[in-house]
Amino acid sequence: MKRVYLDNAATTPVAPEIIDMISKMMKSNFANPSSVHSFGRESKIIVEEARKTIAGLLNTSPGSIFFTSGGTEADNMAIKCGIHDHNIQHAITSKLSHHAVLYPLEDLAAEGKIKLSYIDFDKDGVICTNHLNKLLQDNPRSFVSIMHANNEIGTLQDIELIGNICKDYDAIFHSDTVQTIAHFPFDMQKLHVDFMAASAHKFHGPKGIGFVYISDRIQIKPLLRGGAQERNMRAGTENIYGIAALSMAMEMAYENLEEEIKYIKGLKLYMIDKFKNEMPEVNFYAKCTDMDNSLYTVLSVNFPESEISEMLLFNLDILGVACSGGSACASGGSKSSHVLTAIDPDSKRPGLRFSFSKYNTKEDIDFVINKLQELFN
Ligand code: PLP
Repeated sequence: MKRVYLDNAATTPVAPEIIDMISKMMKSNFANPSSVHSFGRESKIIVEEARKTIAGLLNTSPGSIFFTSGGTEADNMAIKCGIHDHNIQHAITSKLSHHAVLYPLEDLAAEGKIKLSYIDFDKDGVICTNHLNKLLQDNPRSFVSIMHANNEIGTLQDIELIGNICKDYDAIFHSDTVQTIAHFPFDMQKLHVDFMAASAHKFHGPKGIGFVYISDRIQIKPLLRGGAQERNMRAGTENIYGIAALSMAMEMAYENLEEEIKYIKGLKLYMIDKFKNEMPEVNFYAKCTDMDNSLYTVLSVNFPESEISEMLLFNLDILGVACSGGSACASGGSKSSHVLTAIDPDSKRPGLRFSFSKYNTKEDIDFVINKLQELFN
């Protein structure tokens, strides 16, 4: 049966070149990078070369890159250590943040360690910078966590502007960049961001590897304690295959960035046009049709309420379409989404997120639109 995968914001397929590299490396390099013998030194070189490559792609120093098990650990490390080690008593985030950000912040607030403020946002999820200024003015030195791009509705935030506001108030700024690193250019010399998170599986690398960027303006103690890996900042034997793959995936992404952006934007525009022309009852979430202010990889839409609403995702799966779903209100067939609930609390229209990669084609989109028409007509 033909199947189409349009769930690339959840995870991407691993690039075949990367699978080849990992399988070769697993045969030739197995040693622990902490071992002093020549085998170990070879592994250590792999880790440090990867760090150098990644730093170069972000225009920063290798010392600011710390490998983690992925985006969740990177976000948790930034939040827990940034707040604890700097004796921060007030944090600011948005209700649209990923749970990897919301939950650690809410835990700290529930434990009475911080006061947590939620920033206002407009109907598209763009945060209100006046409110940010006010929250920073009215509170002691704050920890601010605003994601670069929302993984469900695709809204992009101006992290350059947010970083400059944080700088004015000496606030610590963390941005969850899991959906944007290796999808957009970054120049860390121009951004005032203290912490950023990245995850290889969002850009054709393997799962379970990522990094936290920590600017040289800020010092923290490690979240995980044990061995002296990552210059004493993240204990645990390094995932050398993952690290090499992360660096290769990032290199591949940035090598062809312009071309790939153009191609994927073309797919998204094609699907938008298809919906507009063939299923005009479909609505687009937030800034999804604004190609400059939303993730070009994500198209989030909702459909009229009908008897199939509850089981939409399940029905699509049976027809060979893989995407993500969510609704504003909790209902039997689909789990409620905190993002859609926050952005559109009263809507009962079922939402679907289609997300694209360079491996998708216009034929994939034709297939998905046909299946949707079969379901709704
Ligand atoms: N932050 C965002 C915005 C994400 O989309 C994800 C992944 O779904 C994460 C954090 C968590 O990353 P990981 O799966 O690498 O732990």
